[in-house]
Amino acid sequence: MITASDTLLQNKVAIVTGGNGGIGFGIAEGLLAASCAVIIAGRDRKKNESTLEKLRKTHTECKGFVFDANSESSRENLIDFALKTYGRVDILVNNAGITRRSLEPDLLSDLDWRQVIDTNLNSIHYLTSALVPNMKKAGSGKIINIGSMMSIFGSGYAASYSASKGGVVQYTKSCAVAWAKYNIQVNAILPGWIDTQMTDGLKTSAPVRYQEITGRIPANRWGRPEDMAGIAVFLSSQMSDYITGAAIPVDGGYSVY
Ligand code: NDP
Repeated sequence: MITASDTLLQNKVAIVTGGNGGIGFGIAEGLLAASCAVIIAGRDRKKNESTLEKLRKTHTECKGFVFDANSESSRENLIDFALKTYGRVDILVNNAGITRRSLEPDLLSDLDWRQVIDTNLNSIHYLTSALVPNMKKAGSGKIINIGSMMSIFGSGYAASYSASKGGVVQYTKSCAVAWAKYNIQVNAILPGWIDTQMTDGLKTSAPVRYQEITGRIPANRWGRPEDMAGIAVFLSSQMSDYITGAAIPVDGGYSVY
């Protein structure tokens, strides 16, 4: 029998990387509203603190942690902090990400290529691998990786970003296959065009492109960080226990034509 408590995340603990702004903030807010305890993990201490201040106006069980996804010790410290504070981590949202653009793929610097692949793909594997033994021991877990429209489409001006986000989906499927036997579900959310710091630049530097994109979105508007909350809560709850390895667009219809 399905009960209301199956939809809630009471007594659950989540880590949201990059939870101090943008899409991560929308996801953290959603999880908190579903009664989950949330650790937001971002690099920028001040951003972490001001985000916590905002979240704590309505939600109490929220903590911040200064975290660099590309540092092994930082990843270990984050997991230690979560386990010492709550004794468990039920949900990992791998959301931290960056992009670098160039006119064409061959014009991207080696450094830009590596930083994007390291942050958006390699760090997900390393953090997930460090945490998953705990989930295996616990006999359950939810891992949510943030992909992109570029997990589906190519992008001439963001080749490393597209490569990393395509990789996120294949990595998600691989982990889903491997860990279903431990009752660990691994899924990806593919956000459409969302108004955040990452895309802010387009509005001012490429207003025509911004409008073109808007015109191609059937919902006729860019997404907002809070549009990601519902899917994140669903994929974190028992209601999605038979869904694993999925890559779900949340894009106002952008990817369907
Ligand atoms: P933002 O730039 O607003 O947020 C990016 C977040 O990632 C920040 O919280 C940032 O924290 C964190 N971050 C970046 N690098 C690191 C790192 N090395 N270690 C820890 N945290 C890090 O962008 P979005 O909210 O838009 O992006 C969030 C995710 O959503 C990304 O994976 C992005 O690729 C994806 N996405 C975004 C779309 C959009 O249209 N906006 C569309 C599709 C996917 P800090 O500032 O403290 O460094």
